[in-house]
Amino acid sequence: MKLFNTLTRTKQEFKPLKKGSVSFYSCGPTVYNYAHIGNLRTYIFADVLQRTLEYNGYKVKRVMNITDVGHLTGDADSGEDKMEKEAAKEKKTPWEVAAFYTKAFLSDVEDLNNKKPSKIVSATKTIKDQINIIKKLMAKGYAYATEQAVYFAVSKFKNYGALSGQSLKDKLTAARAEVVEDKAKRNAADFALWFKLVGHHANHIMHWPSPWGVGFPGWHIECSAISTKHLGQPFDIHTGGIDLIGTHHTNEIAQSEAAFDKPLAKYWLHGEFLLIDKAKMAKSDGNFITLQILKDKGFLPLAYRYLCLTTHYRSRLNFSWQSLEGATNAYNNLLDMIAGLFSSKFRVSSFEFQDKIKKDFIKHVNDDLNTPQALALLWEVVKNQDLSPKAKLKLVKDFDSVLGLDLLKMATARPKANKSIPAEIKRLAQERWAKKQAGDYQAADVLRLELAKKGFQIEDKCDSYIILKKS
Ligand code: AMP
Ligand code: ZN
Repeated sequence: MKLFNTLTRTKQEFKPLKKGSVSFYSCGPTVYNYAHIGNLRTYIFADVLQRTLEYNGYKVKRVMNITDVGHLTGDADSGEDKMEKEAAKEKKTPWEVAAFYTKAFLSDVEDLNNKKPSKIVSATKTIKDQINIIKKLMAKGYAYATEQAVYFAVSKFKNYGALSGQSLKDKLTAARAEVVEDKAKRNAADFALWFKLVGHHANHIMHWPSPWGVGFPGWHIECSAISTKHLGQPFDIHTGGIDLIGTHHTNEIAQSEAAFDKPLAKYWLHGEFLLIDKAKMAKSDGNFITLQILKDKGFLPLAYRYLCLTTHYRSRLNFSWQSLEGATNAYNNLLDMIAGLFSSKFRVSSFEFQDKIKKDFIKHVNDDLNTPQALALLWEVVKNQDLSPKAKLKLVKDFDSVLGLDLLKMATARPKANKSIPAEIKRLAQERWAKKQAGDYQAADVLRLELAKKGFQIEDKCDSYIILKKS
């Protein structure tokens, strides 16, 4: 199995630290808002990686954190805690905000058929472990305290920019451009391990005692604490989105390796961005789309998963409503073809042939998770003339253990095209189609929603559409 390792910038053969098992850490969401579908793309990628490892026979222990404290707006110390900012806006406590969006996140990833990681741990549940690492860093001279905070001294850690390839000099230039509020900070690129309740953090609601005064942890230390606690150090695989390479992951490595004198993780994998109108989808921008918005428009979460799988995780994916419509059509057509297999007459096909197809599938997914090729092969299988329906179903089930499209269940649950459609529904559907053809997608979406509320689902084919009554 080959994986592209950001650390070495090469595709490498995967060799686990312990034979037969994989220790795997994924950076989780900051729960101050709903996850957007860009965030969810990153979790789908991590899920496909977990499934591929399991397909290869590995026992996977996967840990994910939930950031519910300390993640500031922007990388500078002058930012506000995202959780507390949102809590003030919603007139709730930060704990309530965290509980609400954690639940929403878990429901989204379940809708996308992601497997649940073995452990999901909130940052606020591991404050003691975080303090213990900071103590170690202080004792070893990697950290220092000022009136305002405890910082990690980046110049003390050699190879600080190894993951990103960014030199400390460049990092420093970037850091200098940010507002540095603490004059006692030794180096602008030093990052906070612990914030004290002073200055603009004086009224921080979430706070804990520590040897350096009452305060709260910086963002990065939670991942060092949670990964080390549950997976040990080093562990095999660490994942996240590419925006985490330069700061969050670079800082995780510095903290953990300085504290324990061992590498943090062997393979670092990063998912590329989901874009919208050529810009990164971001929680802080107004351009963000949630899974609920897709569902409200009548799209299946699994059709979004299908869309994600059509692009390799290391390539950017530009989201558009048309591309989601396209993925929905492809997914539904696939389900229809699979549904047809259940009622097809039994024929026999050669086992060698099936074996060769399975080998091709393994070759694709083991080549740094080439899901576009794996999907193409899935289509070849369902369309193949020489395979028996039974053999096809077996292969579909097998491939789906990696793709996670829930194909067999969804195929059997497909609503059948209904002949007795009320005239009003037909009229609305026709009106929607006309709006769509005219390029008025907004109006077409409103009509789709209206039809959905009345219990009907529209599926667009190449040059027509069908109306389905929801069961
Ligand atoms: P956050 O909740 O902001 O901490 O981000 C959660 C995960 O989503 C991180 O791994 C980010 O790297 C990733 N992420 C953020 N924006 C995008 C995007 N537009 N496309 C894909 N992944 C993203
Ligand atoms: Zn992290």
